[in-house]
Amino acid sequence: MSQAYDELTRAARQLIAIEQLLGGDFIPAKRQPLDVPDFAAAAAPAGAAEVPAMAPEEKSAALKAMDDGEVKVCTRCGLCQGRHNTVFGEGDPNARLMFIGEGPGQDEDATGRPFVGKAGELLAKMIAAMGLAREQVFIANIVKCRPPNNRAPLPDETAACWDYLMRQIRIIRPEVIVTLGNPSTHAMLNTRVGITRLRGSWQIMPQLADGVGGIDVMPTFHPAYVLRYYTPDFRGKVWSDLQAVMQRLGLPLPTKG
Ligand code: SF4
Repeated sequence: MSQAYDELTRAARQLIAIEQLLGGDFIPAKRQPLDVPDFAAAAAPAGAAEVPAMAPEEKSAALKAMDDGEVKVCTRCGLCQGRHNTVFGEGDPNARLMFIGEGPGQDEDATGRPFVGKAGELLAKMIAAMGLAREQVFIANIVKCRPPNNRAPLPDETAACWDYLMRQIRIIRPEVIVTLGNPSTHAMLNTRVGITRLRGSWQIMPQLADGVGGIDVMPTFHPAYVLRYYTPDFRGKVWSDLQAVMQRLGLPLPTKG
């Protein structure tokens, strides 16, 4: 009885989140087959199997050690000069799903947490619409310090910070990565193809570091971009991308009845 009640409550919360994110018109009356392009199954990248998976408690400790011992005191690139806080990323060290943005903004720099401003509120709605809590996913950025004036990270800054992100992915081992916006998508897929063309189609992360590669990637628009162009069309596209991720992870999609 209590389990059924909890399940009903969770489904109701999820429906409300979808309504808030997109409006009721986007909730399918019944589950529709999704137009998700098949992706070519990638061969396991060389080296991936050579890095053994950590136990859950080891993952948490390894992430904390990297944050406290390296990232918080990092001076590898010039972004260290303007920061108030490093923003390592946060979430479940065993997350099946990872969101990766480009870099911290003003609110993130002030708090040391990723995606806490207006764009963060929208990302939280996106996650809730998927039936997940923010604590169940892992949220990180390409660079851990705020680029001035919210510009995209420069290539040398991305390169300097790259090892941290690769190690985060190697520790967490997500099944799916959602890249948010162009800089993140370009870096994670090693491509210059624009987000407008790539979003909505499954990609495979190439082997970018030892033991890091071959992960399913769904590129979508950055929440800040969606806020700037807050149209039903853009919101619908993001929701379509998230549904594809839900399908890949086997997450239930609520319907109106
Ligand atoms: S952005 Fe990354 S590499 Fe540059 S100082 Fe910050 S933590 Fe270090």
